[in-house]
Amino acid sequence: MGQIVIKTDVCVVGAGHAGCEAALACARMGLETVIFTVSADSIALMPCNPNIGGSSKGHLVREVDALGGEMGKNIDHTFIQSKMLNLSKGPAVHSLRAQADKAEYSRRMRMILENQDHLTIKQAEVCELLTKEAGEEGRARGVERYVTGVRIFTGAVYEAKAVILCTGTYLNARCLCGEAITQTGPNGLQAATHLTDSLKKLGIGMRRFKTGTPARMDKRSIDFSRMQEQKGDEKVVPFSFSTNPEDVQIAQDSCWLTYTNEKTHEIIRANLDRSPIYAGIIEGTGPRYCPSIEDKVVKFAEKDRHQVFIEPEGRFTNEMYVGGMSSSLPEDVQLEMYRTVPGLEHCKIVRNAYAIEYDCIDARQLYPTLEFKKIAGLFSAGQFNGSSGYEEAAAQGILAGINAGRKCQGKDPVMIDRSEGYLGVLVDDLVTKDNREPYRMMTSRAEYRLLLRQDNADLRLREKGFESGLISEGQIRHLEEKRRMIREEVERLQKTVIGASSVNQGFLEKNNSALLKTGTTLAELMCRPELSYEKLAEIDPDRKRLPQEVLEQVEIEIKYQGYIERQQRQVEQYKKMEKKKIPESIDYDDVKSLRLEARQKLKEFRPVSVGQASRISGVSPADISVLLVYLEHEGRRQ
Ligand SMILES: Cc1cc2nc3c(=O)[nH]c(=O)nc-3n(C[C@H](O)[C@H](O)[C@H](O)COP(=O)(O)OP(=O)(O)OC[C@H]3O[C@@H](n4cnc5c(N)ncnc54)[C@H](O)[C@@H]3O)c2cc1C
Repeated sequence: MGQIVIKTDVCVVGAGHAGCEAALACARMGLETVIFTVSADSIALMPCNPNIGGSSKGHLVREVDALGGEMGKNIDHTFIQSKMLNLSKGPAVHSLRAQADKAEYSRRMRMILENQDHLTIKQAEVCELLTKEAGEEGRARGVERYVTGVRIFTGAVYEAKAVILCTGTYLNARCLCGEAITQTGPNGLQAATHLTDSLKKLGIGMRRFKTGTPARMDKRSIDFSRMQEQKGDEKVVPFSFSTNPEDVQIAQDSCWLTYTNEKTHEIIRANLDRSPIYAGIIEGTGPRYCPSIEDKVVKFAEKDRHQVFIEPEGRFTNEMYVGGMSSSLPEDVQLEMYRTVPGLEHCKIVRNAYAIEYDCIDARQLYPTLEFKKIAGLFSAGQFNGSSGYEEAAAQGILAGINAGRKCQGKDPVMIDRSEGYLGVLVDDLVTKDNREPYRMMTSRAEYRLLLRQDNADLRLREKGFESGLISEGQIRHLEEKRRMIREEVERLQKTVIGASSVNQGFLEKNNSALLKTGTTLAELMCRPELSYEKLAEIDPDRKRLPQEVLEQVEIEIKYQGYIERQQRQVEQYKKMEKKKIPESIDYDDVKSLRLEARQKLKEFRPVSVGQASRISGVSPADISVLLVYLEHEGRRQ
């Protein structure tokens, strides 16, 4: 029999959180798409924590949803507990987090993929990336090769115009549990052992990272009376802007909080020489912000206890996740250490904790569109790009999908900058900075975080989703209507004057608010910390009934107006530099007076804008001035 050759538009290698969003985006844009996975039974698998969202990650889920992605909708259908975090702090850091029924999350995502037009699921290991040499025109733009498709293990070839690599933690994966080491991917799944070599041959620089997961316990062996119960919110807020809030008011499951103690730490310290990390067996670099329990005990030696969250893995399983205690210690040490924790004295381990090492890339080889600079048509997203986390993966996945799709359609790429979304911050950090460990999103990484709130992701990004064909006209009309209602209500509150009548003074007195000497507007009253839109209803009888999503924006816009305006001015400054584009064909040898180091870095990283160039380490403000003069001169000359 001859070799099978299948023609398609896009190949997505990987059906994890990045791959699912990437493939759905391409297929929904009308492109014939094939998504490959080592196992069709592990689509959208959550190999670690059983939750979606959390601080800053919740923002990413909302952004994926605003762009037309699936993660938010999927968790709205499959959560078992939900909480809005950080409510005691300002709105910039409010973040939604939901416990997922893992099996259901994965099953439903697979069903969405299976029923998506233009999308085919293929269970197969992709072993080789196929490319052809670039011509002179490509080389002038720094492109060395064009992608042409992939080859799978059986030898079958899939020819494509674009390929998106979303291989997660599977490339040359190795799992470690003390001295027991297996060459497998997460959950004992088959590792992908061929693709790295093919990528290396094409000149793609690879690196090795590691991460880890805690043990899962049998619920029946846990004494919950020794732990603090953690319940979900009474009124659940959905992730997706399209979910009806009534549909997420369901009966929720509880999580539980307990702590490690000196005894736990003693056992860990006594067995450090048997931990693959401390014994030097692990080569990969792990995430600083998601440390193993061994790391916590060594690095924070002064702490006498660490939090341990016991979280259900689903509704129809007895497995419980032991959050905060990931480890690669041997099985016997694990059992001993877990059994020192109150409530876990008689615990039975269903799955051992383990660490995993895998191949990934230094994402500085990519443009902010997530396309490889040297291999046109090749895109990548997720853990493969050196990030960590389901939400980080999904966010990159949808962007890579949109841009691979647009490339096939001959359209300009979509870019999201640092002032437009956490997705912009994530991608810019990945493609510009030297990240020596798995990158995790955090609110502190976003400099314009008062503008990048989880509540306004639709107002920030829906149009970009619409432009790409992932958001419908109906959804855009809904957004425009929402904008109009917000604007009109803010204007009404700014114009409506409240006099010093006895009714108004009585209202203020009741709310411990300073009495009026003269008339003031409702907006000014709302700025007082002790007053809110809801409270002012008593002295504002003319207000219309407005949707909750509108009221939330009105309240934030008025209460934080000064801060928001200040941040908007900073964004204007930032945008000026981002708008100064650097032509793809620039020859840095032509830019005289650049320092040698800056010239080398700029040649290597090929930034798309002066703004991005200014964030590359080794490029100084003086180099940026030289570059600006050169670009201005060239602009005039042309
Ligand atoms: C043990 C462990 C612990 C983790 N701990 C944490 C944590 O504490 N915090 C955190 O935020 N994140 C953690 N993660 C990471 C989290 O699982 C990932 O960030 C997330 O799943 C990444 O999504 P992804 O889509 O990039 O890749 P994955 O979800 O890993 O999906 C990769 C997909 O690629 C497929 N694939 C790979 N290579 C090939 C190939 N050659 N051919 C065909 N298919 C291929 C696989 O079958 C799979 O479908 C952990 C992961 C593991 C495994």
